Amino acid sequence: MIYNVSEMFSQSIGFTKKVNIKSNSSFYEGIGKVLVSEAELNLIKTDNGIWVSGEIPVFIYMECSRCLNKIDLSMQIVLNEEFLTENVKAEDNFTIDDDNHLRLESCLREYIIINKPLKPICIKKCKLMNY
Ligand SMILES: [Zn+2]
Repeated sequence: MIYNVSEMFSQSIGFTKKVNIKSNSSFYEGIGKVLVSEAELNLIKTDNGIWVSGEIPVFIYMECSRCLNKIDLSMQIVLNEEFLTENVKAEDNFTIDDDNHLRLESCLREYIIINKPLKPICIKKCKLMNY
C-alpha cells in the first residue's frame, strides 16, 4: 500500500485525489495476519503534506479472552491523518519519503492497534453465556 503522490505536489493546496486500496493480506508486527478489503481514500494536499482520510474495512485474527477460541474480527478503520513531507519537522506524524511515496501500512498498523479490543470475546459461546 504505497502511493506515489509526486503529481499532487505540483498542484495547489486543497487539491484532492481519490485512490483505491486493493484487497490484500499481510503480516503486521504486533497484530498478525491482516486482511484489508477494498476501500477508497481521499487525499488532500495541505501546506505541509497530504491529508489522508477514509474508511478501511479490515479483518484481524485474535483469541477469545475467555475460551481462547480463534475469532475473526471485522473492523472498520476510520483513517484521518496528515502525512508530512520529510523536510517538515514533526514528531508524531507519518511522513512522505524523498521519492514522494506515501506508505500507508505503518499508519494502518497503528490505527488497528489503537482500535482493536483488549479483551475480545467470541460471539458463539462466551457472549451468549455471559459469565
Ligand atoms: Zn470464547
